[in-house]
Amino acid sequence: MELRLTEEGLLEGARYIASPNCDERPAGCAVDLIVIHSISLPPGEFGGDGIVRLFTNTLDAGGHPYYATIAGLRVSAHFLIRRDGELSQFVSCGARAWHAGESRWRGRARCNDFSIGIELEGADEAPFEDRQYAVLAGLTRAIRLRYPVVDMTGHSDIAPGRKTDPGPQFDWSRYRALIED
Ligand SMILES: [Zn+2]
Repeated sequence: MELRLTEEGLLEGARYIASPNCDERPAGCAVDLIVIHSISLPPGEFGGDGIVRLFTNTLDAGGHPYYATIAGLRVSAHFLIRRDGELSQFVSCGARAWHAGESRWRGRARCNDFSIGIELEGADEAPFEDRQYAVLAGLTRAIRLRYPVVDMTGHSDIAPGRKTDPGPQFDWSRYRALIED
């Protein structure tokens, strides 16, 4: 699928849901890394509005026991790919989304400064869907046409010991093969 990012860092045709959890990237900071995440809210349940609510600071702390532990977080990602491949954008790629937290990649700290964060709706033990790989590959190609991305990595790789996503079910070789097509 052909996806296109505008000069402003917005994906044409994607559902755009503005998250307030973002700010400016440091001046002169090139966007050269893609960080892959996975998330489901409540954990292990797919299709609800918990992720959108988390990213827009409207999660109901009383809606689920787990929500009480995360309702105060101020987080976001640039993109979310649902199980059926639906693609949503929350933050312009030109802005800094708050997805990586304390992190380090090849000796550089604060990965939010220079990365684009993509969330796949998923859970530790659930294989990701074919549709998610296809959309992720198309999105990655669109990002690389606009930004000087040199690599893709997982949240668990830049925040080891603290984060485990996208988890053991994410097939890196499949992903890398798809984007070379
Ligand atoms: Zn993550």
